[in-house]
Amino acid sequence: MSDFRIETKCIQSGYEPGNGQPRVLPIYQSTTFRYTSSEQMGRLFDLEESGYFYTRLQNPTNDAVAAKICDLEGGAAAMLTSSGQSANFYSVMNIAGAGDHIICSSALYGGTYNLYAHTLKKMGVEATFVDPDCTPEELEGAFRENTKAVFGETIANPALVVLDLEKFAKSAHAHGVPFIVDNTFATPINCRPIEWGADIVIHSTTKYMDGHASCVGGAIVDSGNFDWEAHSDKFPGLTTPDETYHGIVYTQKFGKLAYITKATAQLMRDLGSIQSPQNAFLLNLGLETLHLRMPRHCENALAVARYLKNHEKVAWVSCPSLPGDKYYDLAQKYMPNGSCGVLTFGLKGGRAAAVEMMDKLKLVAIVTHVADARSCVLHPASHTHRQMNEQELVEAGVQPDLIRFSVGIEHVEDIIADVEQALL
Ligand SMILES: *Cc1c(COP(=O)(O)O)cnc(C)c1O
Repeated sequence: MSDFRIETKCIQSGYEPGNGQPRVLPIYQSTTFRYTSSEQMGRLFDLEESGYFYTRLQNPTNDAVAAKICDLEGGAAAMLTSSGQSANFYSVMNIAGAGDHIICSSALYGGTYNLYAHTLKKMGVEATFVDPDCTPEELEGAFRENTKAVFGETIANPALVVLDLEKFAKSAHAHGVPFIVDNTFATPINCRPIEWGADIVIHSTTKYMDGHASCVGGAIVDSGNFDWEAHSDKFPGLTTPDETYHGIVYTQKFGKLAYITKATAQLMRDLGSIQSPQNAFLLNLGLETLHLRMPRHCENALAVARYLKNHEKVAWVSCPSLPGDKYYDLAQKYMPNGSCGVLTFGLKGGRAAAVEMMDKLKLVAIVTHVADARSCVLHPASHTHRQMNEQELVEAGVQPDLIRFSVGIEHVEDIIADVEQALL
């Protein structure tokens, strides 16, 4: 599908039925797959042959949806995971272990911050958090001998910092490590990080990709561009024999598929965060309309941002596509057709006024979610980021008064009318 435009890929990529086969991707609701030869099944276990044998490792429905996401991002290989968090976790653990180090932008989703700052630390992987707006020199200073990856979010949730992808990619590559980007908020409709130097792209498909708040899920896409063998000393897991598969070497045997094959063969095998095929099917329905929904999300968010900006009770508004925004120029560079449907704002009355306003909303609901068809709000300091102290909040770009507003695809006048009555 690589010659088609992205709208066509949203609909058609990943699944091509043969003569007389179902037009729509079937749900392979089966844990297991039958073989007539014991010998052949053995070869599957040795990775000598590719094929399905147990859904914890691979399932045809999941693989079709992963292939679509791979095509949308312009990658070489991809896999689905049970959640965005497992995608984040696997993306790093596939190339790092105890004694290693990663560099992360400090503007991150709260769950990702906890994962990298605390849980990975317990497993022996240390993270250094850098200001996403740092100079290239400051970024240089964060590297160590044992650094294995650089990580950031295209548009940070909820700080709405637009990452300077080229700056981070350049620095990572100068140190011989891959640049991993969480592209959840921009989606490949608005930004394709691989085109700007990202090596691995991850998604919480729970958000815009699913788009209807029905399934938690994640995806990892590998560009196939990073030369693991050129930095073999840093990535022995990919470039030296894996004894659990009779000594195969992933880079030698699988080439551009090495990273995803290893993540499937080792991490999925051992940790098992597989997406259910049912959820993959629903995710696929969401993906079919992603190219229609994203522009509407962006258009509605911009209109709401403009309304809020002119409201006397509003202290500040952040929306990367709004002229005058701190990240406007970066957004214009990396996502000129729109950023996302999420905006943040604060009220002059501060934290107390935020809570009061949110409670008055009727159409717009208070939910722990973001980036779906229905408009919703959340107060990160009280909800997603409540484990953080004041300083950690500020470092993550989350002001205590910040309201995260995920603008849906209802009629924009109805959304604004609800906000208007809540601000009375
Ligand atoms: C929600 C989110 C995650 C976590 O994804 P889950 O699917 O909830 O596990 C990771 N990164 C970003 C940017 C998110 O918005």
